[in-house]
Amino acid sequence: MDCVFCQIIAGEIPADILYRDEEVIAFRDINPVAPTHVLIIPKKHIPSLVDLADAETPLIGQMTKIANQLAREEAISESGYRLAISCGKQGGQEVPHLHMHLVGGRQLSGTLG
Ligand code: 5GP
Ligand code: ZN
Repeated sequence: MDCVFCQIIAGEIPADILYRDEEVIAFRDINPVAPTHVLIIPKKHIPSLVDLADAETPLIGQMTKIANQLAREEAISESGYRLAISCGKQGGQEVPHLHMHLVGGRQLSGTLG
């Protein structure tokens, strides 16, 4: 498996892991765009949001719950933050393993695209 995020899950390449459970892990982005930039990902290799099966949609809620928890731990709950999932080429997705960005700790732009 040459997926970089699967390699992080397997411990084959290092990452600053902040959270781990049976289904999800979270680690700091290697190229942060803000003081807090964490990636929350399923352990299962789901390439993209478009590949998420209907039965797997609760996973997004679980990832959101973990993101909110990490936002509290990063002390950005009150100042505000953004959760983002990029999907596919025009959606700006670069790593083909479903992931949610948690970004905060500075004033973010009002535009998404
Ligand atoms: P995307 O553009 O696919 O939504 O986001 C992919 C993110 O993964 C980027 O923000 C990029 O910096 C991050 N990333 C890519 N490779 C690695 C890596 O090996 N380790 C970590 N921690 N983050 C990575
Ligand atoms: Zn993967």
